[in-house]
Amino acid sequence: MDRQQEFVLRTLEERDIRFVRLWFTDVLGTLKSVSVAPAELEAAFEEGIGFDGSAIEGFARVFESDMVAMPDPTTFQVFPFEGGVSGESARMFCDILLPDGGPSWADPRHVLRRMLSRAAEKGFTFYTHPEIEFFLLENGAQDGSVPTPVDTGGYFEHTTHAVARDFRRQAVLALERIGISVEFSHHEVAPGQQEIDLRYADALTTADNIMTFRHVVKEVALSTGVQASFMPKPFTDQPGSGMHTHLSLFEGERNAFHDAGDPMKLSKVAKSFIAGLLMHAREYTAVTNQWVNSYKRLFPLALPDRITESPAYVCWGHLNRSALVRVPAYGKPNSARVEVRSLDSATNPYLAFAVLLGAGLKGIEEGYELPPGAEDDVWSLSSAERRAMGYEALPENLAEAIDVMAGSELIAEVLGEHVFDFFLRNKRAEWEQYRREVTPYERQRYLSL
Ligand code: GLN
Ligand code: MG
Ligand code: MG
Ligand code: MG
Repeated sequence: MDRQQEFVLRTLEERDIRFVRLWFTDVLGTLKSVSVAPAELEAAFEEGIGFDGSAIEGFARVFESDMVAMPDPTTFQVFPFEGGVSGESARMFCDILLPDGGPSWADPRHVLRRMLSRAAEKGFTFYTHPEIEFFLLENGAQDGSVPTPVDTGGYFEHTTHAVARDFRRQAVLALERIGISVEFSHHEVAPGQQEIDLRYADALTTADNIMTFRHVVKEVALSTGVQASFMPKPFTDQPGSGMHTHLSLFEGERNAFHDAGDPMKLSKVAKSFIAGLLMHAREYTAVTNQWVNSYKRLFPLALPDRITESPAYVCWGHLNRSALVRVPAYGKPNSARVEVRSLDSATNPYLAFAVLLGAGLKGIEEGYELPPGAEDDVWSLSSAERRAMGYEALPENLAEAIDVMAGSELIAEVLGEHVFDFFLRNKRAEWEQYRREVTPYERQRYLSL
């Protein structure tokens, strides 16, 4: 037993914690949880906890369904706010193993770990920092009718919207109490829309933190009598919920994206990384934007006073909010980074970070040249102008995204054959189901024909 494991067992005893939740994530990004009694944990550290993987999305073919969840003691966390009669609870993330002890190819955490060690072989640590947007809604609408946002607020609004403000306060306190640092939180553009930005951390920690974040935010919302939704685009005429993510590579203590001698302070490594993000953008979009609904957000929507700020074209820019990849204003050397703006709040963070890192590393390995940045607002260009500038469109819907992904050697390699095949099969089925549906929109328009 190592020291981390001993620390976990001692803490459970000292704090009299009766429930330990073991968490892992399926291929579609759904959190899975199994509770164990502390008495079982010593054995669980040795042998893991067996479960039937065939019941979990993407985990196993039925004939090889025995899987083992191995708790990762470095992720141990006591949840002080889920108290009540039964006392405190705690959780640990798990790595999923095959019965022979090897890593499960179906485990999203493993997919990300594998890419992180590829980066480590080149001397890089990969850091990410997500800006997570979501909606706070009145509870009730689960039947497909239009939900009611909890307020009518707007960007950075403070005074009038007590529900959202109290909610954000509670959510941020709850997150801080379990060791997840929050950098900013504010009201977003749409009524009921919130944003909470997590402090940057290595990508595996960030992905774990995002899974925890979604859980905590939903719990805090419930306890306030409202619903939190990470759906990419709940309202036709309002912006959707993105998860802009800032990426950087470090070599030891040094930010490998920084170069003091460059006009934009960007190193060659950073430029090739961005070029990789652009070159493979159409291929990884099915992963960063995995739902039918995701593509309703990736569409420039002109509102009366502004345009929604979600990317639709493959280009990069300095300070340009219409670009897929944005290089934020120059700050301290160690804060050099790039922001990818396509991800939405319902992505599987492990797989999304893995494909972004894969694309960026490919750019570095192959020495891709960075094309010129986009100066203009690319939304307002005509499609002929965009073509002339070489800005390709992101996939317009899930079907197109799947088709492009299916032809990508890079994504197949990053996800591994099993996750790649499962993902494509599952997403094709989702598209087929959507495709056969006759919608209220169609009846409204066509019934009188
Ligand atoms: N909600 C916008 C999106 O969908 C982002 C708005 C912003 O943070 N500038 O990406
Ligand atoms: Mg933001
Ligand atoms: Mg935002
Ligand atoms: Mg942003």
